[in-house]
Amino acid sequence: MLFKKNKFNIIPLIFVTLLFNTALIAEERVKLYQVSSGVLKFDKGWLTAMKDVGKILEFPVAMYIIEHPRGLLLYDTGMNVAVSDDGCENYWGKGLCSAFQPIQKRDEVIDSWLSKFGYKVSDVKYVIYSHMHLDHAGNMEMFPDAVHVVQKEELKAAWWPEKYQAGAFVLKDYDDARNFNYLQLDGDYDLFGDGKIVVLDTKGHTQGHQSLMVELENTGTLFLAGDAIYTPENESGAIPGITWNTYESMKSIDRLKMLRDTHQGEIWYSHGIEQYNSHKHDAYYD
Ligand SMILES: [Zn+2]
Repeated sequence: MLFKKNKFNIIPLIFVTLLFNTALIAEERVKLYQVSSGVLKFDKGWLTAMKDVGKILEFPVAMYIIEHPRGLLLYDTGMNVAVSDDGCENYWGKGLCSAFQPIQKRDEVIDSWLSKFGYKVSDVKYVIYSHMHLDHAGNMEMFPDAVHVVQKEELKAAWWPEKYQAGAFVLKDYDDARNFNYLQLDGDYDLFGDGKIVVLDTKGHTQGHQSLMVELENTGTLFLAGDAIYTPENESGAIPGITWNTYESMKSIDRLKMLRDTHQGEIWYSHGIEQYNSHKHDAYYD
């Protein structure tokens, strides 16, 4: 009789435990927001060499806020806050502003996106950079307490660029960041050791360009290409307009395509207009 009573009571207990566990697992999911640091208005020939040269379009500047159970992280930080609301010439200077024509409202800067989704700047534990160009590492100095995840070769290139590459590295973006806490990489790196946030060496656009593989439970595996693949045309063979090393750049495109196919995932471009417009930006992917 006693045994029977216990057996009866244990069923709702199992049910409650299951519910509780499901809630915990849901909380542990990786969540990813894709947002844009305004737009850049420029000649498409910068992105696709010898294709659509002379076509002036407005390109999104993708950046990502990613919540992992072990910390909030960013992949890229967009254009410096000083570029907002017609402030470009005072910050980038006339030449860069007329070549790339940034249109960024103050509420499109990374700190505004963070607060829109309920986070503080100080919540960010890791900032991962695709590379150190002006539209990707612009707000590094907003995160003095984070760990900055960059390829070592990229840091060297940013602080002492080759003259022919110097234009797109804006030293002011990181002149006070020399003593920040860096995770200096030389190749691939699984950030938390769980396969969910994996930095991929995709050098070519710059010396230390890196893409990010993000494993999401419902959406699947995303390959955030950064500028390794600006647009779908680069994926189908159009050589990227700006490269440090075209051979390495084409190898990195092939690498991302192969990984996308073997993981049955998706490649998300840094400056792809149609793809960006087809995504949601006011809620997370999980
Ligand atoms: Zn870019």
